[in-house]
Amino acid sequence: MEHRKVVIIGSGPAGYTAALYSARANLNPILYEGFFSGPAGGQLMTTTEVENYPGFPHGITGPALMDACRAQCERFGTHLLREDVESVDLSKKPYVVNGKKTHVTCDALIIATGATAKRLKIPGAGEDEFWQKGVTACAVCDGAMPIFRGQELYVIGGGDSAVEEATFLTKYGSRVYIVHRRDELRASKIMAQRALSHPKIEILWDSAITLVEGDKVVRSVTVQNLKTGQNSKRNAAGVFFAIGHKPNTDFLSGQLKMNEQGYLVVKAGTTYTSVEGVFAAGDVQDPVYRQAITAAGSGCMAAIDAERWLAAHGIH
Ligand code: NAP
Repeated sequence: MEHRKVVIIGSGPAGYTAALYSARANLNPILYEGFFSGPAGGQLMTTTEVENYPGFPHGITGPALMDACRAQCERFGTHLLREDVESVDLSKKPYVVNGKKTHVTCDALIIATGATAKRLKIPGAGEDEFWQKGVTACAVCDGAMPIFRGQELYVIGGGDSAVEEATFLTKYGSRVYIVHRRDELRASKIMAQRALSHPKIEILWDSAITLVEGDKVVRSVTVQNLKTGQNSKRNAAGVFFAIGHKPNTDFLSGQLKMNEQGYLVVKAGTTYTSVEGVFAAGDVQDPVYRQAITAAGSGCMAAIDAERWLAAHGIH
């Protein structure tokens, strides 16, 4: 079985940055990019313009940014495998990474498998329908797009994310509706108060969007009151899912400490997980910030943590 000092799993900004730093430290890393689990490059591959990544004053598309990160870590010798990891064995050293086709052992492992925004199967909101044509799962990424300016926008969810996204969208939309399935927000009191008192935000309680319609982009939604069953068709330019994220940790089958939602737990201020020599970076360990730049920053931290940990254990 092939052996590497460092193996990285995941190919978003966190994984590619961890690979860049590891490769430049002559650690000759392998990076599993994934295959069926999603496009190499992670969540940014499904966004359009990225305007909040420093260094690109005129913006850059998510796929172009990820292509550049990929090329940069490859340039310094990262070995990229376009393959999903099915399982890892962290019960003994060296650790074993089982890809769909390849099996590799490693001294240090960096997990950067990200998270997946949850979506609902609403007619009209699917990939071949209005997904990315007004329907998205990230207001911070997509909210500033011209199609949303001065329009009526709908955020689905009742947690902190829904409130945060709705508040963010008030900068662009004429009015922002939070569509929540219950009559009480899950969001923290301070965030809930922010939504309830905002002049541009209205909450549609006990409600669900049951249909998204449009032409080239979204033009309307049908909102159903779940208590009365009454439907109303309303003008809309945007539908934003904010019903939570699911960290991509299933393949770890409980070998690392996770929180209730399945996010990897790291030692505060570091990328150290509960197993020594295993580090976590990016959204897989971050339920709060979830930005490309924070993911890249923690990927850098993971590579430095791994390099220092290897050196401290006499592995050069
Ligand atoms: P969350 O707290 O799990 O809330 C998800 C919301 O989506 C809930 O209101 C839930 O409704 C709703 N929902 C879930 N499944 C649904 C479905 N199938 N149909 C309709 N609605 C559905 O997720 P989150 O808001 O992303 O927050 C995740 C974590 O990050 C939380 O710990 C949060 O505090 C934290 N966070 C913090 C901040 C901040 O402090 N600035 C910002 C964002 C997130 P129910 O309420 O009925 O279950």
